[in-house]
Amino acid sequence: MTNSTNTTSKTDYDVIIVGAGFAGLTAVHRMRELGFSVRLFEAGSDVGGTWYWNQYPGLKVDVESVEYSLSFSYVIEQEWTWSERYAGPQELCRYANFVADRLDLRRDIQTGTRIDAAEFDEGCGIWALTTNSGEQLRSRFVIMCTGMLNQPVKPPFKGLDSFEGKQYHSARWPKEGVDLSEQRVGVIGTGSSGVQIISAIASQVGHLHVFHRTPGYCLPLRNCVMPEEYSTRVKANYGEWRAAERYNSFGGWVALNYQIGKPVTGSALDATPEERQALFDERWESGGLSFYNVYPDVYTDLKANAVLSKYLQDKIRERVKDPKLAEILTPKYPALTKRLIAETNYYEVYEQENVELVDLSKQGIDEITPKGVRVGDTEYALDCIVFATGFDAMIGSLKAMDVRGRNGLTFAEHWDDGARTHMGLMSAGFPNLFIINAAGSPAPLFQPIILGQEQVQWVGRLMIKLAERNINCIETTSKAEDDWGRLCDETLSATLFPLTDSWYIGKNVPGKSHTGLAYFGGMESYRQAMTDAEVSAYADDFILTTFEG
Ligand code: NAP
Repeated sequence: MTNSTNTTSKTDYDVIIVGAGFAGLTAVHRMRELGFSVRLFEAGSDVGGTWYWNQYPGLKVDVESVEYSLSFSYVIEQEWTWSERYAGPQELCRYANFVADRLDLRRDIQTGTRIDAAEFDEGCGIWALTTNSGEQLRSRFVIMCTGMLNQPVKPPFKGLDSFEGKQYHSARWPKEGVDLSEQRVGVIGTGSSGVQIISAIASQVGHLHVFHRTPGYCLPLRNCVMPEEYSTRVKANYGEWRAAERYNSFGGWVALNYQIGKPVTGSALDATPEERQALFDERWESGGLSFYNVYPDVYTDLKANAVLSKYLQDKIRERVKDPKLAEILTPKYPALTKRLIAETNYYEVYEQENVELVDLSKQGIDEITPKGVRVGDTEYALDCIVFATGFDAMIGSLKAMDVRGRNGLTFAEHWDDGARTHMGLMSAGFPNLFIINAAGSPAPLFQPIILGQEQVQWVGRLMIKLAERNINCIETTSKAEDDWGRLCDETLSATLFPLTDSWYIGKNVPGKSHTGLAYFGGMESYRQAMTDAEVSAYADDFILTTFEG
């Protein structure tokens, strides 16, 4: 522990939180419970986070609503009832509003206010933040709840700005909706966002061109009106459900056929073909992302994975009648190494006469023209282009902000060559700043609401411990970042994930490094690392400072 001289220790709040998604709401509640003064700033005009920003047609959460919800409040769990098995963004935003009201969080939340800049004052260990209206605020701690999939990316196509029609990004869809009827629409991208949009708009638009580069494993979501019996049963057993979620190391969700899914142990290769078929069929009938809960070695062993991949590829070939089209739409990479895509009647859309797939696997988009999209010698005339081209995942939102730590260091500079964090929670040179569900954490592979809650709990306990010891500044070290980055990379290379280009490993953004981007070792070992830091009283891997006065 070092001592330093206090310059101006006056603060407006103990903690400033950025972002009013589920993690931000959790953080306000927890900080207040612990007795800290807190203010949350949200750029959007309302709470809801990713569900506030993403409101494109067809969007449904791909984890069951009863699981994709906050578990720290018995009252919330019991009083809120979901209307659908997989809620849409409007219902998820209503839920976020319900949480904010029911827990009386709103008085500490300022919406419509973006934090434009944050600067660490090294003289006193305090953050000075500036909002978009020029308001200046000082806080001892900052918790960034800015989301792992928040910063949209658009490939830098030649001629992008020349297009005379309308263009939209899936992640910034106008809340008032867009009338696409009779329009010639082009959708670029067939990840989760693109597939849901395509399925939803195909029957409304005049003509739909799908610009398709890499096929994904798309599976029926099997959404339905929430069965009352199911909702009641879940509420009566929420404790058991939540525990099962928390200890499901990959995924963090468990629902299967409206029951708690039994964790599967053992190798896919040791099971008989009949056993595998029965297990896979059960998941197929259950729908959604239930294939994440199969034999654990599908994540690490190509042969085990091939059994699952073949099952899912056959399902696509069964659904797509035209063999040539089926070939284009069938992925060849190991299943699960890119996020599964939960859909409703996606493949069937291609049977419609107004829908045309443009295969980009051999010839990519050459340019956006004033009239549409050109691929090779063909120009596709369009009234509207939808970019469903994804996100600068894990690091994008913090790199885009003007956050300056020690020596004016920004995240854009610090993470230029790959993400650098310790446990995905702190970054060297950014004292007293915590990040939730971000780079270096298991967030891409675990249920982010549960992870966010556990991270916020960890931060809260840390802040209490610091207060008890009269320490007012904590910072991780470069060595801890190096070690954690190495661990992230080691855990990644022990899996099949490096075999496929995806946002999990930064390969959706040209030139982006995968180093330290996410922790692939599962939630149990991640939790252990967080616990070890606490047990050691932050002695290793952290610098603790007390300012005098
Ligand atoms: P994404 O999975 O990264 O998909 C981006 C798509 O754009 C891909 O098909 C990609 O093709 C294509 N693309 C990118 N650059 C291109 C180019 N230059 N030319 C042609 N195509 C290009 O993004 P996303 O669909 O927005 O989904 C991101 C993640 O958000 C999901 O994996 C999921 O975790 C989350 N999400 C969840 C939900 C849900 O809960 N229901 C919904 C939406 C998103 P390539 O594959 O060839 O690169």
